[in-house]
Amino acid sequence: MKALVYNGPRDVQVKEMPDAKIEKETDVLVRITTTNICGSDLHMYEGRTDMESGRILGHENLGEVIAVGKAVDRIKVGDIVCLPFNIGCGFCANCERGLSGFCLTVNPGTAGGAYGFAGMGPYSGGQAELLRVPYGDYNCLVLPEDAKEKENDYVMLSDIFPTGYHATELAGVKPGQTVVIYGAGPVGLMAATSAFIKGASQVFVVDSHKDRLQLAEKIGATPIDDTEGDGVERVLELTKGQGADCGCECVGYQCCDRHGKEVPNLTMNNLVQTVKATGTIGTVGVFLPKDPGAQDDLAKEGKLAFDFGQFWFKGQRIGTGQANVKAYNRMLSNLIHVGKAKPSMIVSHELSLEQAPEAYENFDARKKGWTKVILKPGK
Ligand code: NAD
Ligand code: ZN
Repeated sequence: MKALVYNGPRDVQVKEMPDAKIEKETDVLVRITTTNICGSDLHMYEGRTDMESGRILGHENLGEVIAVGKAVDRIKVGDIVCLPFNIGCGFCANCERGLSGFCLTVNPGTAGGAYGFAGMGPYSGGQAELLRVPYGDYNCLVLPEDAKEKENDYVMLSDIFPTGYHATELAGVKPGQTVVIYGAGPVGLMAATSAFIKGASQVFVVDSHKDRLQLAEKIGATPIDDTEGDGVERVLELTKGQGADCGCECVGYQCCDRHGKEVPNLTMNNLVQTVKATGTIGTVGVFLPKDPGAQDDLAKEGKLAFDFGQFWFKGQRIGTGQANVKAYNRMLSNLIHVGKAKPSMIVSHELSLEQAPEAYENFDARKKGWTKVILKPGK
């Protein structure tokens, strides 16, 4: 099968790899029709992780089931399924509680499993023609009859839509509240969408990319371009000095590289300043245990110059971590099905698998207009 393989930092290649196949009785085999490039792939691509060369990337996957293991009885050949990026077993103490992002079986001792991801188990990614799905009965979301027609919407259920929603859950967004979001990438845009689904009255989105901020505005948010003035001051001005009720971090460690040591206004500290006293911050941006590729010395060690004193003084709270995709994706799927959510509105490019290396290059450079890339293997 053809697949996108990680050779090393900023070096990915489409090549012929051994076909993915059923390895265990609980596996499902999927022919991938849509697979996205994610901001999280850039942690590997930019050399922020210790990803082994030769691994297939891709954790935002959708396709058709073409084979099932002997012990699979819910999923059938021919089902069109979206695959949550988390791989869970369904029966450990965390999966039982809906915390499928922290499965204790698939990657013992660390932080759950995922397809094509450093530090999250040996699982191959879906930027390929075929994907093996472990514990298939648990890890496939069977899509409704409009699956093919709305493929570019449903594929967002694998990660960024539930992740954006998770940011608003962690931040405790309630009807009528104001929300500040750092990052207008796909995750930040989905967090803004989710905040409005939850009934937020006003959503501020801070970034430096005009094209992404325009999408935030289209969603109904108030865009704040922090190249045109201090984003923190602007949010405080717009909230009469009090800050927003809730905040979402949708950037992650890359903010350290953007500001460097001299300007330590990390997004986490921006949130401490722009969320009101007693407000909650939902952090879904990835902060890696170690970030060998970072320019900032603290970030290299996985540490953050976090203003804990101010955070404590304001009585704020933080929720962190990966999205437990399964906990949300059925209800978000229903919103797509009835036309109340259209996450494909952020898609900027629909390309073939062969075009993936140039897509990585442009998405990584945050080249104007490259907001979300969808790859179509086999087309
Ligand atoms: P992205 O890189 O496309 O978007 C990030 C955006 O943040 C960019 O538009 C960038 O300009 C902006 N940014 C950088 N520094 C900033 C700063 N100091 N202030 C404001 N904005 C700043 O990535 P994405 O796909 O949107 O993902 C965002 C983050 O979410 C990444 O860290 C990704 O790994 C993470 N993520 C987490 C989960 C999860 O389950 N928790 C899932 C998916 C992605
Ligand atoms: Zn992703």
